[in-house]
Amino acid sequence: MDAKSVFVTVALMVLANGAVLANVYRDLPGALRPAAIRWQAGTALVALGSGFFAFGSIMPVPVMVTLANGTLLFGLGAYHRAFERFYGRRSSPVDIGVALVATAGTFWLSAIDPCFICRVELTSAAWSLLLLRSMWLLHTMRAEDESRSRRMLIVIYGLVVIYVIGRVVVYLHLDVPRETTMATNDYGINLVSPMFVALLPVIGTTAFVLLCTERVKRQLEIAAATDYLTGLPNRRTLVADGNTAFRRTRATGAGLAVGVIDIDHFKAINDTHGHGVGDEVLAFIADCLKQAARKGDLVARTGGEEFVVLMDDLDLRAATAALERIRGAVADSRFSIDGTPVPITISAGVASCEPRDRDFDDVFRRADRALYLAKLAGRDRVEQAVA
Ligand code: GH3
Ligand code: MG
Ligand code: MG
Repeated sequence: MDAKSVFVTVALMVLANGAVLANVYRDLPGALRPAAIRWQAGTALVALGSGFFAFGSIMPVPVMVTLANGTLLFGLGAYHRAFERFYGRRSSPVDIGVALVATAGTFWLSAIDPCFICRVELTSAAWSLLLLRSMWLLHTMRAEDESRSRRMLIVIYGLVVIYVIGRVVVYLHLDVPRETTMATNDYGINLVSPMFVALLPVIGTTAFVLLCTERVKRQLEIAAATDYLTGLPNRRTLVADGNTAFRRTRATGAGLAVGVIDIDHFKAINDTHGHGVGDEVLAFIADCLKQAARKGDLVARTGGEEFVVLMDDLDLRAATAALERIRGAVADSRFSIDGTPVPITISAGVASCEPRDRDFDDVFRRADRALYLAKLAGRDRVEQAVA
């Protein structure tokens, strides 16, 4: 295979991959599309760059070399911008600056003072800089994005960096004439270069699409586990965590307590101030509960104006004291509408895991019955479940 065929093949592969992303694009949520568009632009530029190397013999060498290297560098910059958008970072002009300087330098080193090895050194330095910036950005996102595709992209970028640097070393050991170009068949390494150029748009595009789909999957998982109004875990999460905690309690003998909380006369708040204010109260109380509960205890919204606190390692007495503290925090809280304070109180029932409980639901039901007693006894109070 000659260098031209390799570049043509690479350009076609890159375009085919770009077409796949163009298709997937329509299924991506709106928030991810700006990043995907930038990735597509990068892929189109890399394909164009490969095309210039393949068919550039019809134009003067300096024009071909400058256009080919320039489009490849701007393609790398577009990929970096795709990551910046994906992670909600502000775009910096560094990549454009690097691409512009290296493109201008390439023109100088082909039209004014032709020197192949100087061009390789210059473009390799620019490539390395752009690739390492993207690797660093991907690396700094490790805490908020634990996806395999992010790590895969770091590896792919790393391989290209190693190749780019290795290539300079190889060319330095070859006796390369000043007037040659990358698109000739004179050196075996000229055939390998396009393959590495293709690594990012082909395998990288697959990894980028995976990065997007993993984010969508994670967002769906969070949505399925969270109450949209308060941001607290929902009933589904409570049941899952409650069952896990129950099994752990049975295995280790450590305590487990459940507090079921209900806002008093909430219907009156809705009726007097409207449903919108009712929703604000729910979010306000959710924050109150979260702040008053122990760190690590699960506070969930299980329905309407009902919340549950799951307390590990607490017996009934300690759990009752914890609920009493939470009740006091809500009673002392200051919710106001247009400067007018609206007093809010809660009632709670609390139960701890007993030997006769068969599952988490048994503990939960006893706490719920205790809540009913708290309502009967006049509200704004905590009642213990009878064992
Ligand atoms: P009690 O002290 O006995 O608990 O009285 P209550 O008025 O709090 O209880 P009740 O069950 O009579 O009324 C609960 C109200 O909560 C009725 C329902 O319209 C309202 N509600 C349920 N879900 C929501 C919600 O998501 N937003 C708002 N604003 N109101 C809700
Ligand atoms: Mg209520
Ligand atoms: Mg209720």
